[in-house]
Amino acid sequence: MDKKRATKNLDSLITKVEAARLRVSEHHIVKIIGISKYSTIDDIKTLYEAGQRAFGENKVQDLKIKSEALEEFPIEWHFVGTLQKNKINNLIDLNPTLVHSLDSLELAEELNKKLSIKNKKMSCLLQINSAYEDTKSGVDPKDALDIYKKIIKFYPNIILKGIMSIGANTENRETIKKSFLVTKKIFDDVKILGGIYCSMGMSNDFDLAIECGSNMIRVGSTLFK
Ligand SMILES: *Cc1c(COP(=O)(O)O)cnc(C)c1O
Repeated sequence: MDKKRATKNLDSLITKVEAARLRVSEHHIVKIIGISKYSTIDDIKTLYEAGQRAFGENKVQDLKIKSEALEEFPIEWHFVGTLQKNKINNLIDLNPTLVHSLDSLELAEELNKKLSIKNKKMSCLLQINSAYEDTKSGVDPKDALDIYKKIIKFYPNIILKGIMSIGANTENRETIKKSFLVTKKIFDDVKILGGIYCSMGMSNDFDLAIECGSNMIRVGSTLFK
């Protein structure tokens, strides 16, 4: 990807995000995370030079390789993938800005244990399976608020900053919208507990996600095409 292409992709995304957020309110601010999991270090650097500052990976090993290779740049690194227990220590050592994929109470317990041994804290989002799909990680929407409260109460090394969800895997916009609205409702509940981010929306559905209240979108393919 050359600089011209990166600028065009980013400008085009920002224009669409801008239109969607203004349909909500001029005060509704949306943060864009560039998901670089299928992209090279050079492509990330090119997009960085075009102005993108936050990137996300879904594998701990890739996050390590890419973040270390681009260490000289003030990039914010996010982790969005399923976190395996045996990779927790590696992830902690990488100091990610935000982990979007805390997907069970059990994982929270394990993560908290390892964080406290290292005397560190980590900002996380609770992942919610709002589409009720077996293939997706995340807590059941009906348990989400309870689990959110438990993490705050029992796992002090985890700083919960909100929730994350992946939209329903379908072309049907109404079905996707329904899953986003389930997430948004939970977001409204966790706001009084200090939740500030509702991470939902990807390349194919970020506009809909923003209209449903998302303030953080994770965009990969349309940014790196
Ligand atoms: C890959 C990925 C994305 C980005 O998906 P695109 O459709 O390429 O925009 C967002 N969130 C998560 C969790 C992902 O794994």
